[in-house]
Amino acid sequence: TGTAALRVPERVDVAAWWPRTGPQDDKYRRGVVGLATGSADYPGAAVLGVAGALAGPTGYVRYAGSAAQAIRDRFPTVVCAERVGDAGRVQAWVCGSGLGTDGRAQAELRAVLAAPVPVCLDADALNLLVDGSLAGQLRDRRAPTVVTPHDREFARLAGADPGPDRVESALQLAARMNAVVLLKGDRTVVATPGGFAYANPTGSAALATAGTGDVLAGLLGSLLAAGLAAELAAMAAAYVHGLAGRRAAADGPPNALHVAEALRETLSNVIIKS
Ligand code: AMP
Ligand code: MG
Repeated sequence: TGTAALRVPERVDVAAWWPRTGPQDDKYRRGVVGLATGSADYPGAAVLGVAGALAGPTGYVRYAGSAAQAIRDRFPTVVCAERVGDAGRVQAWVCGSGLGTDGRAQAELRAVLAAPVPVCLDADALNLLVDGSLAGQLRDRRAPTVVTPHDREFARLAGADPGPDRVESALQLAARMNAVVLLKGDRTVVATPGGFAYANPTGSAALATAGTGDVLAGLLGSLLAAGLAAELAAMAAAYVHGLAGRRAAADGPPNALHVAEALRETLSNVIIKS
């Protein structure tokens, strides 16, 4: 079923979906994205996610969490708070990368799930969802949720490996969770609860290095905050992220920061020149 409806977007599709800045825009109207990521142990995950978000179409990036000092030092334009509840107005949240799974992390995830805005959940947020009450809170959400598991995170969430039919597996999990599922891999799959599926044609094995998923989540959150529909935001983020991986790899084996840095130039080629 899923395989028959599989769509593989092209560059022109992604360019058409990408939110544009209009002459009347201000920093709020372009969207405010918030990241509840990182921890004292893993400040780098927060840095990478913010770098991804800053490359996206939003005009404003906020950060809430224990890595605030690392973010302030590195990104003077990002407004920081300690907690999600103190972050002010946010139009989409990214939660999970490097967050940890302690009580504080759980409380922050609850606050994110309670926000009536689109949410992207990655990494430790997915590990925390194994808790049934949090999964129930997710299923009851009205605003869209995107989950971005790699294979091991998928196995924990779904109770089984994705197996050979990754599209069908992602569709089943999407329906069960009431969330768009972005199943990462060399051909990333995006599946919706309503039964649509996409496959990303721009994978790059250069992305198989620590932290690239954090960059992807930040970029995806920026697209959600700019108002793009969840499945298009997921697909567009994966597409551009894959191209940025290829671009970064042209200069030698890249790390995740190189991929984040390659996003701006990739975007100017994908969006502006098409
Ligand atoms: P994470 O494991 O969360 O850091 O995410 C890894 C990122 O790299 C995802 O965007 C994957 O789709 C991508 N990735 C990992 N391995 C490959 C591969 N062999 N080919 C293409 N993309 C990959
Ligand atoms: Mg990851």
